[in-house]
Amino acid sequence: MEKEIMEKYEKAGKICQEAKELARTQLKPGLKLLDLAESIEKLIRDKGGEPAFPVNLSLNDIAAHYTPDIDDTLTLKEGDLIKVDIGAQVDGYIGDTAFSVRLGEKSDTLIKAAEDALESFIKEIRPGKTVGEMSKLVEEVVLSHGVNPVRNLAGHSLEQYKQHGGLSIPNGHIPSKEEIKEGQVLGMEVFTTTGEGLVKESSPTLIYILLQPKPVRLNESRKIMQLVIEKFQTLPFARRWLKGVGSTAMLQLALKELTSKEVLREYPPLREKSNGLTAQAEETIIVLDKPIITTRA
Ligand code: MN
Ligand code: MN
Repeated sequence: MEKEIMEKYEKAGKICQEAKELARTQLKPGLKLLDLAESIEKLIRDKGGEPAFPVNLSLNDIAAHYTPDIDDTLTLKEGDLIKVDIGAQVDGYIGDTAFSVRLGEKSDTLIKAAEDALESFIKEIRPGKTVGEMSKLVEEVVLSHGVNPVRNLAGHSLEQYKQHGGLSIPNGHIPSKEEIKEGQVLGMEVFTTTGEGLVKESSPTLIYILLQPKPVRLNESRKIMQLVIEKFQTLPFARRWLKGVGSTAMLQLALKELTSKEVLREYPPLREKSNGLTAQAEETIIVLDKPIITTRA
């Protein structure tokens, strides 16, 4: 990897580290998720990055893809299991990292299982390892804690302005011989659950991504398309970030037009199928003989 690109990955990773620290100090009962999301995203911008995707703040049986809405009133309470998933990018080079906290508990088996599986992955990952070996390792470590991996969620490669590159490393074992290559960048994430181990799409959708610009009817739809092309490009964005476009009702109509015409794709919240609690751990890894974890000090 070129030195200049490596430095951008490292800068994005460093911003993620600081954002995680900020988040950890704020997590307590009574905290409004909207305030947490805005303070994390502000820190990312203040440090010279841009959010690579909206901060995901998913509670309990929601594994991923919840981000506060405009005027969201959702508040943390004792016992909640929150996943904080943060992305920062510098010129499109992404840091993607997540941690989980159970409010009011010092330790939690689900969180420990996700963290241990991620640690084992980090210890073992080298150029030439296969997706089969690495997904087997993750599954085994998670199961050893007496909980389940979420089998339809996966770690993924990261590319410039692409949060999900071509490579996918599922949380449950698949017999794939595909090799993980030197210089590949991974957002390796492990999801654990007390449930059966599958997520399904839920509602309401709060996160979107651009598929392709097309002619649209509503003025607000055109405004959204323009904003996305200029600011978010091929990275996911929040409904909340479109606040200035128009009234909430118009925004909803425009988003409906844009998704039905396949200008935008929806990323709905992912809920565990059997309503099991879910935990997550994630770091960004540059795969080398001596791997670099950009999102960790
Ligand atoms: Mn993530
Ligand atoms: Mn990720």
